[in-house]
Amino acid sequence: MIFAGEWLLPVSREPIRRGAVRVAGSRITDVGTLRDLSAKHPTDIIHDQRGCVVAPGLVNAHTHLSLSSLLGLLPPGEFAAWIAKIAGPVQALTHDDFADAAAYGALECLRSGVTIVGDVAYGPEAPAAAADTGVGGVFFWEVLGISADDLPETLSAHDFPAENEACSGRTLCGITPHTPYTSGPELIRAAYDYAQRWGFAFAIHAAESLAEARLLAGGEGPLRQTAERLALGFKAPGTGTIRYLEHIGALRDTIAVHCVHLMPGEAELLAAHARGVVLCPRSNRYLNNGRPSVSILRGAGVRMALGTDSLASNETLDVFAEARELCAIDPALGAERAVRIMTLEGAQVLGVDAEYGSLEPGKHASLISVALADTDDPLGAFVAEGTPAGVRSVISEGIWRMIDGNMAFHTKGIEQRNARVAAKAAQALQAVQ
Ligand SMILES: [Zn+2]
Repeated sequence: MIFAGEWLLPVSREPIRRGAVRVAGSRITDVGTLRDLSAKHPTDIIHDQRGCVVAPGLVNAHTHLSLSSLLGLLPPGEFAAWIAKIAGPVQALTHDDFADAAAYGALECLRSGVTIVGDVAYGPEAPAAAADTGVGGVFFWEVLGISADDLPETLSAHDFPAENEACSGRTLCGITPHTPYTSGPELIRAAYDYAQRWGFAFAIHAAESLAEARLLAGGEGPLRQTAERLALGFKAPGTGTIRYLEHIGALRDTIAVHCVHLMPGEAELLAAHARGVVLCPRSNRYLNNGRPSVSILRGAGVRMALGTDSLASNETLDVFAEARELCAIDPALGAERAVRIMTLEGAQVLGVDAEYGSLEPGKHASLISVALADTDDPLGAFVAEGTPAGVRSVISEGIWRMIDGNMAFHTKGIEQRNARVAAKAAQALQAVQ
C-alpha cells in the first residue's frame, strides 16, 4: 500500500510536499512523492491522508506504563512528598494490575501517536501488554533497595530474560536501578555490568530533584532517610549525580533520565560518555522539580529524547506537549531539532534507530498521520499545533492501529480493567493517609 499526506516528514531528510511511503508487510519499501510512488507501483492501494502530515510514530522514551492507573491520584506537588505517598498504591498492585494498567497506557500511547516507548517495567507484563496493542520499544526492569549480590536472583524472580535473544525484535529489554537514592553504588554498578555483559540497555533517573542534589552534595535533605533505608552502601559523594555515575563506572552508554539539576561540567560528561538523556519537562513541572537544562545540554552536544514519565506525575502521555514545553524552555532549539528529538533522536537514545524513528526504506512501518492546517512549514506546525486529538491514523509494524481517528480494535475492556485498578490504587492511598 501507499500512505500519503499533504506533507511527509521522513526526518532523515527534508519534508516532502505531497509525500508518501510505500509499505509492504511490516516494512517501508519506498519513500518519495505520491506522484512518483503511484507511478512506480500502479497496483498499490493508496491511502491518501488529505489535510494531514505523515510522520514516523513518535518516541516516548521514558514512561511507566504499569502505573497508568494512577492518573490523577496525587495532585501536582513537592517531589519528596509525592514519592513517599506514591509508594503505598504502587505496592498494593499485583502483576495482573500492572498488566491492565500497562495495556491502558499503551492504548493512550497509540492515541497520542506514540509507537515506541522506553518503559520502566516490573516484569514481562508491560512489554507483553504493549506488544499486544502495537507499541514496541525498550522495557527496563526496575531494581532497587536490594544488595548487589541479590541482583541475579531478583531479575530471575521477575522473569527477566537470561539472554538478549529472549527479548529481541521490537521489544527490547533493559535494566534500571531506579535512582542513586534507592539503589546503592554497588547495586548500580552490578546492574550496569549485567546490562553491559548481555547487551541490555541501561537507564537511571538522574539529577531529577533539588532533594537528590542535596543528598548527593552533602547527605542532607528530605531523601536522606530513603537513601539510608534503600540505597545500601550509599555515601554522599559531594558531587552531582552524573559525576557520581562516572565515578562508580556506570555512565558509559547510559541513558540518564531527567537531568534537571546538573552541576558544572556534567553536561560535557554526558556528551562524552552517555548514550543520551531523556527529558520529561511536564513531569518536572508537576513535581516542582524545575526545568531541564536544555540549552546547556544542547550546547554540550548531548543526544536528547523526550519522555512523559508516568501518568502519576503527568496529565497525559502527549509527546507533542512535551516538545512544546522543551521549545518554551529553550527557544533556540528550533522545530527541526524538536521533531528529531520526538522521533529519530529519541530512537537513537533508546538504541532502536536502526529500525525506527524515521521513514526510510528497510525500516519498520511505524507511522502516523496528524491533521494540521495547510502550511508551508510542516516541521514548525507539527510541533506548534500537533495534538493527540489531531492524530488520525496510526500504523505500527505495517498494521493499522488507528483509522480515521478511531482505534482499530476494541478498547472498552482495556478501559474497564484500568478503571478497576485505578479504584484499587485510590483505596490503597486512602488507607495510608
Ligand atoms: Zn520515571
